[in-house]
Amino acid sequence: NEFEDYFLKRELLMGIFEMGYERPSPIQEESIPIALAGRDILARAKNGTGKTAAFIIPTLEKIDPNKNAIQALLLVPTRELALQTAHVCKELAKHMGKVQVMVTTGGTLLQDDIVRLYNPVHIIVATPGRVLDLASRGIANMKECNLMVMDEADKLLSPEFQPIVDEIIRLLPRQRQILMYSATFPMIVKEFKDKHLNKPYEVNL
Ligand code: AMP
Repeated sequence: NEFEDYFLKRELLMGIFEMGYERPSPIQEESIPIALAGRDILARAKNGTGKTAAFIIPTLEKIDPNKNAIQALLLVPTRELALQTAHVCKELAKHMGKVQVMVTTGGTLLQDDIVRLYNPVHIIVATPGRVLDLASRGIANMKECNLMVMDEADKLLSPEFQPIVDEIIRLLPRQRQILMYSATFPMIVKEFKDKHLNKPYEVNL
């Protein structure tokens, strides 16, 4: 397969090639067409497989930068991972002009996030607690956020995070797509899948 096979926006394809990616990795080959078709995904994926681009490429393809709304939420367990993920997202979106990516996590001033949200945001990369805080108070409007990615889902479903993630999902539109990437598949991941995913396509590489 080739990245050209997915009929991506030209500006996105330029970002991909500029990163030096020549062809999709196996996880990307499995994820990208399925995610573009709108299906939920549950993927077993380790770091180093290209999983970050596997969910960011379809995310960038799906968002409309001319629409002023949060259209995707990338949920991760740590601030460090949020910063890394946002970095990849900005790099891949480099030629897409107006795409606005915001990082929001604990350990920073809430007031700064509130100010940031006065300006357009298309993609939020966040840890669970802070984004729930912003969304439940109506500071971040999630009504058009119909794509959620969970990276390191096993960690996002740890006892401290799991109830928060449940709450976040309740604030998303009914018609929503969830892409889940996890290194391990503990029982809680299976329970979450049965509760929240809609006939997910399962990737096991
Ligand atoms: P990840 O598994 O997302 O942490 O990615 C591991 C590394 O693979 C990162 O340095 C990526 O930039 C790189 N990478 C991701 N996709 C591709 C690709 N299709 N071709 C070459 N390198 C890639």
